[in-house]
Amino acid sequence: MKTIPNGLPQDSASHWVPEVHLNLNVRGLKPSATVAINERSNKLLASGREIFKMGLGQSPFPVPEIVVEQLKKYAHEKDYLAVQGHWQLREAVCEHHRRTLNIDCDPKNIIIGPGSKELMFILQLVYYGDLLIPTPAWVSYAPQAQIIGRHIDFLPTKAKDGWRLTGDQLERLCQKDPGRPRILILNYPSNPTGMTYSAEHLREIAEVAKKYRIIILSDEIYGKLHHAGTHASITQFYPEGTIFSGGLSKWCGAGGWRLGLFVFPENLSWLLNAMTVVASETFTSTSAPIQYAAITAFKEHEEIEQYLHHSRRVLAGLGKHLASMLQKVNVQVLSPEGGFYLFPDFESYRPMLQAKGISTSVELCDQLLEDTGVAILPGVDFGQPPEELTARMAYVNFNGSKVLEQAFKLKDNATIDEQFLQRNCHEPLQAVERICDWLDAL
Ligand code: GLU
Repeated sequence: MKTIPNGLPQDSASHWVPEVHLNLNVRGLKPSATVAINERSNKLLASGREIFKMGLGQSPFPVPEIVVEQLKKYAHEKDYLAVQGHWQLREAVCEHHRRTLNIDCDPKNIIIGPGSKELMFILQLVYYGDLLIPTPAWVSYAPQAQIIGRHIDFLPTKAKDGWRLTGDQLERLCQKDPGRPRILILNYPSNPTGMTYSAEHLREIAEVAKKYRIIILSDEIYGKLHHAGTHASITQFYPEGTIFSGGLSKWCGAGGWRLGLFVFPENLSWLLNAMTVVASETFTSTSAPIQYAAITAFKEHEEIEQYLHHSRRVLAGLGKHLASMLQKVNVQVLSPEGGFYLFPDFESYRPMLQAKGISTSVELCDQLLEDTGVAILPGVDFGQPPEELTARMAYVNFNGSKVLEQAFKLKDNATIDEQFLQRNCHEPLQAVERICDWLDAL
């Protein structure tokens, strides 16, 4: 079968799959790694295998009951809402971020979208600039830029620096071409490393960004899951050039609800307006019942504060414990500061792994899944060199409802110890034990 320039086959109009995908923007790209590992794990589970699902980063906790109640109440809301989002929700979002992060915002400068992922894509579409990505980084930033055709500058970070970008590193890159339009994506607490930035680190980066007029897309979707509850935002140090990105997915256990948001400073409203045009031509508006329910999520409620307090407490205790289990067997990994990820490096096992024919992170994760049933994602998916033996482990494979219930019963000053974890979130512990045994048997 021949292929004509538009990629359609010549000899039959009924063949919609061309042999040569000449005109695709997604050439060379695969479905998102996070989504793919989830589907692969589900298939293996369905085939009867015991699988520890630590691939997709999905909150283990249920949506707080008072938010679920609101969703039920507003299920009949059927009309399209404003492209930028329901006004009352934008007011609640504004009030929330003013209260919790001291962000000076206005409801007219907010856009609500079906997930912040979609909003990030639209931002890159409307802004003609290079994308700066400190790595390791979430799996979808770079592919989004590739689909749109933007130039990407990766800024590699190191475990010994807490996987953090420094002001000097940013300065060195910008010096090469000071006038270039650029967007820097900063994600903290970080997916995949679990590390975060202090106010001091952020101030340093903000100074350089200011100097070179870089737009910062501050992805703070895990901000409320800062384990100590002391998340700081770069909007404090560079308000005029920072777009804040957040949503319900991670802290409110509502990934599948698909609600994300961007908060713009007044002087970037031209960019928001451009995004709104694209939003109106693509998703129109975010699901109405979800937006009504989200109003309650962003309002101040003791129930939600308690929910967050205990979620953080469990994630902190579990993350620390899993990291120490790995450290004990000489796997390099930093104890996480926020969110629900670990980013171990299996370099010290390289000779033994090599003897088994494993020399890349993909081979490592494939073999691990095959031999132990533990599903984690290779470092290469997060922008690391293919031969680096790193991987991301999402420690979310436990029954969040049950664990929260037990955490609520614990005294506030009681620590989440191994006994609590063994009793209430056995699965991630068992998975890490399997990894340790596997390494031992190499
Ligand atoms: N952000 C989550 C992750 O990194 C899942 C959602 C997604 O990637 O779209 O696993």
